[in-house]
Amino acid sequence: MKEPFLAAVPVLQKLEDAGFEAYFVGGSVRDFLLDKDINDVDIATSATPEEVKQVFSKTVDIGIEHGTVLVLYQNESYEITTFRTETEYQDYRRPKEVIFIRNLTEDLQRRDFTMNAIAMDKIGHLIDPFHGQRAIKEQIIQTVGQGAERFQEDALRMMRAVRFVSQLSFRIENETLASLSDLVHLLENIAVERKQAEFEKLLSGMDRKKALQLIIETNIYSYLPGLVNQKDRLTELLEFDCNHLNSREMWTLLVYCLQLEGKAIEEFFRDWRLPLNEIRVIQRISYFLKKRSDSTWSLYDLYAATKEIFISAEKIYLVINGIKDSDTIFHYLSVYEKLPIKERSEMNLTGNDLIEWYNQNGGPWVKDKLLLVEQAIIDGNVSNDKRVIKEWLMECNHK
Ligand code: ATP
Ligand code: MG
Repeated sequence: MKEPFLAAVPVLQKLEDAGFEAYFVGGSVRDFLLDKDINDVDIATSATPEEVKQVFSKTVDIGIEHGTVLVLYQNESYEITTFRTETEYQDYRRPKEVIFIRNLTEDLQRRDFTMNAIAMDKIGHLIDPFHGQRAIKEQIIQTVGQGAERFQEDALRMMRAVRFVSQLSFRIENETLASLSDLVHLLENIAVERKQAEFEKLLSGMDRKKALQLIIETNIYSYLPGLVNQKDRLTELLEFDCNHLNSREMWTLLVYCLQLEGKAIEEFFRDWRLPLNEIRVIQRISYFLKKRSDSTWSLYDLYAATKEIFISAEKIYLVINGIKDSDTIFHYLSVYEKLPIKERSEMNLTGNDLIEWYNQNGGPWVKDKLLLVEQAIIDGNVSNDKRVIKEWLMECNHK
């Protein structure tokens, strides 16, 4: 076994000492078997949430109705979920009722794919009643039980299947894929927030283009915000060599393909329930991407964009134009680093200085003049020194 499991072994031990069963489960076990980096270690136990809370001194209720308690142990936090089964599902999403059980196999059975239904005990012994290891070896995404039944219980699993294609480069097993194609319309019932979380992970996976191709082929796209009837534009995205873009840059490339600008970008992402500050960042990248398509970067645009945004815009520009080397990014980065100021607060001039020098009341002219000086500093026409700025303003009669 390796970290972070080793650090969590005492957590399992404590539950066992209290008379319960406890195992590592879910994505962490799968990623361990794939020799990938492991994010969160999830733990499943026969102890009820109340019992878990009695075993550990520091706990947080994060989803007690689903049986999940967050346990803080030696500076780490662990989600500990009680073995559970789910009764009838309503509206193709939420189970009507969650029932806590004492049996591991039944808990594994309610999980989505065989590769995600493997448990590991504290000495590294695997419990794998649904042959998840075989699926991992064969690189197959297969539902636990009948695909049709499992997708009807929770239609989000269809999107999860495709996002795992992107992240793991696995393929969806034939029957599972056939059920997915049949039942894709059930995605209508799924909350946008849940779709967004899966799509976001899909966008940053290694095999994102294969996954996007599947999104198109299976018609999933028709059930995603803003993508209905956009098959052709979505297909354009597949032409780009975009694997090195992060998910924010992928979103930007997507709205580029959809030919959205300004307010339309905001509406698109509001429909996806992206946070407003993230929407603003994507809008800015899109704005500078468009500018970049018309000309090279001016000093002032580099400054106005800020580093993070101009790098993203330039990366996307290179992708769109099929330019493989990233020389221009390094070139503009060195130009950016040499800018005399990086933000307005570094400018040695305030509105009050102007009001005093010109002996005039404040008004819109102050903002205009600040901008004039800011631009002159960036372009190297005046140095960022209050005395020099004053001279420059007076000499040139920049009133
Ligand atoms: P990641 O590495 O992205 O966290 P993960 O497989 O751990 O992937 P989670 O969303 O963290 O995904 O879910 C943890 C586990 O819970 C899954 O491995 C799976 O066993 C189970 N699970 C999650 N969502 C569902 C679902 N919709 N239906 C059935 N089981 C699910
Ligand atoms: Mg997980």
